[in-house]
Amino acid sequence: MGETTSKLFVVSGPSGAGKGTLVARVRAELPDLGLTVSATTRSPRAGEVDGTSYYFLTPDEFQRRVDAGEFIEWAHVHGNCYGTLKSEVERNLSAGSSLILEIDVQGALQVRERMPEAVLIFIKPPSLEVLAERLRGRGTETEDSLALRLANAERELALIDRYDEVVVNDDLDEAVDALIGIIKNHERS
Ligand code: 5GP
Repeated sequence: MGETTSKLFVVSGPSGAGKGTLVARVRAELPDLGLTVSATTRSPRAGEVDGTSYYFLTPDEFQRRVDAGEFIEWAHVHGNCYGTLKSEVERNLSAGSSLILEIDVQGALQVRERMPEAVLIFIKPPSLEVLAERLRGRGTETEDSLALRLANAERELALIDRYDEVVVNDDLDEAVDALIGIIKNHERS
C-alpha cells in the first residue's frame, strides 16, 4: 500500500473513441475518483439531465461566465462551446480526491498550461474506420455532424505527442485495466 497523492487526470481523444464508457467503468471501480460536470451550449440529448450530464447554458450565459473568468478551460467543439468550471475542479480537489476531466484536446492543452502537474491521457480508437463505425452505430449524429467529428478526430490524433499516456480503446476490458493502472501509478508517484 503506501502513500498516494490526489492528482488531476485529463482524459481526451476523438468523439466516439469510447471515453465516456471507459471513464464510467473506471469510476465504478474507483469510486473515490471525482468527476466534474461540464458546461455546454449544445442541446440536451434524450435522457440527459441538466446539472448531471452537463450544465446546459445559453450562448449568452456561457459567454458571461467566460468573461467572468469562471472557466479553467473552454473550447469550441463540433460547433458548440464546452468548458470546465473552476468551481467544479476546486470542489473535488479540496475534498482530497483525485479527479478525472473528460474534455476535448484543445481544453486538455489549456489545462496543461494552467496546471502543469495534470496527467494528460489520450484515448485512441483502433483506427479512423472503427471510429466512424462507432459514431454511426451510436445513431446520435447526422451525416454532417459525423463528418465534422471525423475531421476533428484527425486533428486531435495529430496532437497525441503532447500527452503523458495513451490508451488504445480496442477491447473495452483491457482499456479499463490500462486506465486504472495509469491512475494508480501516478497516484503513487
Ligand atoms: P458530446 O457533445 O458528445 O457530449 O461531447 C463532445 C465533445 O466535447 C467530447 O469530445 C468531449 O470530450 C468534449 N467536452 C465535454 N465536456 C468538455 C469540457 O468541459 N471542455 C472541453 N474542452 N471539452 C469538453
